[in-house]
Amino acid sequence: MEANFQSHKESIDDVSRFNELMDISYDLAKKLLPFLARRRIPLIPENYRLFYDYFLATNPELNRQLNEALQYESLFTPSVSRRLYSAFYDMDEAKAAAITKMGERIGFISQTLEKNLDYSLHATGHFHQVLSESADQMQRGEMEATEIRELVDSLLCETKTALDNQSDLAEKIEDSNKVIAALTAELADQTRLANIDELTQLYNRRWLSQRFTTALAELAPNDYLSVALFDLDRFKNINDTWGHAIGDRVLILCAKILKSFAGDNYSACRFGGEEFLLLCPGADLTAVLKLADKIRKKIQETQITIRGENVPVTISCGVSVYRPGDEASDLLGRADRALYEAKNAGRNRVLASKE
Ligand code: GH3
Ligand code: MG
Ligand code: MG
Repeated sequence: MEANFQSHKESIDDVSRFNELMDISYDLAKKLLPFLARRRIPLIPENYRLFYDYFLATNPELNRQLNEALQYESLFTPSVSRRLYSAFYDMDEAKAAAITKMGERIGFISQTLEKNLDYSLHATGHFHQVLSESADQMQRGEMEATEIRELVDSLLCETKTALDNQSDLAEKIEDSNKVIAALTAELADQTRLANIDELTQLYNRRWLSQRFTTALAELAPNDYLSVALFDLDRFKNINDTWGHAIGDRVLILCAKILKSFAGDNYSACRFGGEEFLLLCPGADLTAVLKLADKIRKKIQETQITIRGENVPVTISCGVSVYRPGDEASDLLGRADRALYEAKNAGRNRVLASKE
């Protein structure tokens, strides 16, 4: 009775969820289709999914990047859709599939090992039983010389079986160890993929937010922690003049410069499209300003030549230093406002937060 009631309730919940989904999805579609049509965005599944989530506003970063693309991309070509789609969905799906596969393989290995261990324990038990029975018989003096001879032969045989079982098990454990080592390496790769930006190979924002949390938690009362938020100047012009592929190469080059200046003590991350963040534990305002300005100069001085023409690249930066009670968003907010000031003051400069 109870079970019936439960399933009846579940089916009511299921139907009401279905009705709710129908309402939401149809309402969304009614808004979405004219929206896409007005902007001449092809109604391919990738775009439908991107803008479906855009309208539900489930991921602020997705909305930010779509707004940027809507503002700056003259056409929502398939390559623009692919770039955004793969940034938000492909990686997650590929990662989830790889991790599920690893889980299945680990499950299989542990089942095989368990079976082999069971068998080996059983065989060892049997060996032990034969030995103790024989010892009992000998102690009781019940055995003739010929019987002892037979017993020794059978013990030799049992010993050989036990040794074979053991080496068989050792071989299986060694095989499993190899598979486990391969899986561990694969897991390390997956973790790396989850934390690294594919284009620039810098840490991504996901990694940054975790690192930021630990850096703040580990901060002792008089420790310094600074951030420098960089944004390439007039980067849209670079894309428009030289094309997106050259834009990408500029991003890769700047990322390399940032990484080399970050060294082992600081972390360089890709914060967004053409924005980078340097997280500098232990650096006070003077140190972080000096470092940020070196990076700015290096980017300005680096000659980038495309088809014999020089591509001028400059970067602006806003810097802020940890104040007691700050959360990551407070530090980032102050750096972002200082960056805004640097842009307004003429770009290609580093400014400290005045707040
Ligand atoms: P400002 O000096 O004010 O920062 O101007 P800007 O043109 O750099 O800034 P804006 O925010 O107007 O434009 C940023 C551009 O960066 C728009 C976007 O298409 C481009 N972008 C974002 N991500 C990528 C990327 O991965 N590759 C390339 N090539 N361009 C990108
Ligand atoms: Mg920007
Ligand atoms: Mg910019």
